[in-house]
Amino acid sequence: VALEDDLNGKKLIVANWKMNLLRGESEKFAIKVVELIKDYTSKVDVVLAPAYTLLDVVFDVIHRTDIQLGAQDVFWKESGAFTGEVSPYMLKDVGCDWVIVGHSERRKILKETDDMIREKIHSSLKAGLKAILCVGETDEERAKGKTVKVVEGQLVSGLQNLVLSDVSGLAIAYEPVWAIGTGKNATPEEIGYVHSVIRALLREILKVSVDRLRILYGGSVTHQNIREIIFTENVDGALVGGASLDAYSFSNIVKVSGD
Ligand code: PEP
Repeated sequence: VALEDDLNGKKLIVANWKMNLLRGESEKFAIKVVELIKDYTSKVDVVLAPAYTLLDVVFDVIHRTDIQLGAQDVFWKESGAFTGEVSPYMLKDVGCDWVIVGHSERRKILKETDDMIREKIHSSLKAGLKAILCVGETDEERAKGKTVKVVEGQLVSGLQNLVLSDVSGLAIAYEPVWAIGTGKNATPEEIGYVHSVIRALLREILKVSVDRLRILYGGSVTHQNIREIIFTENVDGALVGGASLDAYSFSNIVKVSGD
């Protein structure tokens, strides 16, 4: 599929800090990251996604820059008796532009289902957040040759009945579970293949032009392997876990992506 002509938009680099940092540390770290990437944020879209308790601290550091704020999860109801949960409107209220939905750690450890993930996508978009839907196969599924089938199931279920007026409000992160936090990234060939399949599936599922819908790769991205990954056809950005907590590595990922 020759899509590269339509994909001349900016790459999207998302830092998933996971459950790390306290408020003081996160402020210092965000200040450092802002300084290191300040000459590149006009060329690359950057999102920092800290834990809920850090959102306001990070917002205060980045809100006068081009860097955007993201949350790592959301609940699908607007408000009510849902102890411990956080609604899309609360995320908007604290300054979030983006939310990550369906991360494999949540699917596995918190037993999130495709139905829950679909509700989260729908309610986030309704509240005006941009959503990043994470999909990806486990090691075992990969070994059985089920990668495409698994990713297809997650996309079909997660995006069912979605009427998308603006494809910039949604991004897909292809994150092979075996590549997350393992130091074993997928090869550019594997990534390019799965991303091209994802784009074709998105076209079928969403029934709109998806040439500009960004498909990110996630899984052991570092400043050392970003260059071979980010310029692969159909790769429009990266979701970065471990390396996003290393200011040097993360800022270099951003710089390379802006080349
Ligand atoms: C992630 O958690 O989304 C991720 C890709 O982690 P890592 O970069 O550490 O593999």
